[in-house]
Amino acid sequence: MNFIKKENYTFTLSSTNKPVITVKSGDSIIFETYDCNSNQITSDTDDLETLDFNKVNPATGPIYIENAKPNQVLKVNIESIELQGNAVAMAGPNFGVLGHKLDKMTSTIIKIDNNKAIFKNIELTLNKMIGVIGVAPNGDPIKCGTPDSHGGNMDCKIIAEGSSLYLPIFVEGALLSIGDIHAVMGDGEIGISGAEIGALVKVSVEVIEDLTIKNPIIETDNAYYTVASAKTLDDAYEIAVENMFDILHPKCDLSKNELVMLMSLTCDIEVCQVVDPLKTIRFKVKKDILNKLNISSLL
Ligand code: CA
Ligand code: ZN
Repeated sequence: MNFIKKENYTFTLSSTNKPVITVKSGDSIIFETYDCNSNQITSDTDDLETLDFNKVNPATGPIYIENAKPNQVLKVNIESIELQGNAVAMAGPNFGVLGHKLDKMTSTIIKIDNNKAIFKNIELTLNKMIGVIGVAPNGDPIKCGTPDSHGGNMDCKIIAEGSSLYLPIFVEGALLSIGDIHAVMGDGEIGISGAEIGALVKVSVEVIEDLTIKNPIIETDNAYYTVASAKTLDDAYEIAVENMFDILHPKCDLSKNELVMLMSLTCDIEVCQVVDPLKTIRFKVKKDILNKLNISSLL
């Protein structure tokens, strides 16, 4: 099994990052990840004066996938997410939607026990997910904290065990990195912190040679989602909805008007996050609807 230790981390997704290992299409890889603070917080503290914000959002990697070429697609199957240790959440001024109401930065340790997350004696159901997952973008490096067409910090709840993420490939080898696992997170991530935790993330990768996509797409058991990030949620949902329309229309027998009607009747806009440098939306079409259109696969 290919295993990448968490010490092999990067703070940017970049075509110039040196690959840690080379794998083949079809291979499985385990990424060991730090939490989003590089595991700096290990106890409840009243203030976080000493927190080094230069160490925020490390991603483990990258890996080079043989024969992955620009304008192809990398399919990443999320096989398992094994949490390591306890999680931490933070809140403070200038962070997230409610930062203006807060006077100081604090953190709270969240114990992971028996498949539950314990926040101040409140037992929470886990929804383990990957915050940062992406390939190297074209051109300038992009910080791991920013989402875009290459993936990155999408903070999307459904990038979770059992789902598959399709990413556009921009550079030879794709250069996939993963980090920022959350044990629990709500859509929007309004305070800018999930239950931040280190993990072992097992994925398998597949290069799809004869396919080009503009933005990430997620597949779950019962749905596909186009994902888009932009300065505003309005801009993001326009891209996600248009991407879905452009993919669906050539595959179905409906007129443009009929397809718009059907999408309006059955597809859902959902929010991934509203707190990162670009905001992220996902647009959902159920496989049930695709079946009724005789479309066996969105991609
Ligand atoms: Ca994040
Ligand atoms: Zn995070």
